[in-house]
Amino acid sequence: MHNLFETLNTTSLLSDGAMGTQLILRGMTPADNSLLWNVDRSEDIAAVHQAYVDAGCRLLTSNTFQGSSTALEMHGLADRMSELNRAGASAAIQVAEASPDPVWVFADVGPFGGFLEPLGDTEPEELLEIFTGQFTALAAGGANVALLETMSDPEEVGIGIQAAKQVGNWPVACTYAYQKANGVFRTMMGTTVEAAIDRALEDGADIVGANCGTELSLDDYRALADELLKAADGKAPVILQPNAGAPRRENGEAVYDATPADMAQLATDCVDRGIKIVGGCCGTTPAHLAAMSTAIL
Ligand SMILES: [Zn+2]
Repeated sequence: MHNLFETLNTTSLLSDGAMGTQLILRGMTPADNSLLWNVDRSEDIAAVHQAYVDAGCRLLTSNTFQGSSTALEMHGLADRMSELNRAGASAAIQVAEASPDPVWVFADVGPFGGFLEPLGDTEPEELLEIFTGQFTALAAGGANVALLETMSDPEEVGIGIQAAKQVGNWPVACTYAYQKANGVFRTMMGTTVEAAIDRALEDGADIVGANCGTELSLDDYRALADELLKAADGKAPVILQPNAGAPRRENGEAVYDATPADMAQLATDCVDRGIKIVGGCCGTTPAHLAAMSTAIL
């Protein structure tokens, strides 16, 4: 496998876009648990990964966002945690390995689905076990870069980084979801960009940044890119996976209006600023990523 950091020293890389909306296009309903598709509809999962590789993406994200035992328990699937995560990583790595270009696979871990003490009733040791279990399964399936994403709590991220490092000698990336209030970017828990990145670097994160975001415009993401780069201060590569703009509500559903050309311009602006990994989150499609790829290469 190519060394990710050596590659990032010389170039920026495109990560992938949203998975959920692509699965809905393939028939997934709100009642379905998307991790079950890693086993029951693995061909569809692979097809979405393939569409992103064809678009020029060089980092795929395993379909395991809500794959912690805590999150799966709400669907009665906690006893299948290892199987579903392993299958998710495996579906992505098979597509990655078939690509003529080097393609890495993020072991995707989202918020575990509860709150740490004192806000909730989960103890740090318990959370370490939850994250270690999920990362172990993802590593067994072949994922080669750990990713903690859409995070808001630095304590949770710290434990996640520790878990990822216990599981393997692989790069560990973490991204927070920010909203903007009174001109300041903060996570849902109130953490600023500077505090989040300082803490993640202290805890040993190798790649830091942001994904998703609440009601952020494309210009907000440009400003966020500047703030992320300033906070990282050259100590680690920065990743940004923005949504396709701020959503509007249509019949109760979020609709994202940014076009592939809009996202291509945003990707160019991010890479010009020094962002090393740029991709997409909610509302982004293979068409968006293809335009971004053409723009930054
Ligand atoms: Zn998102």
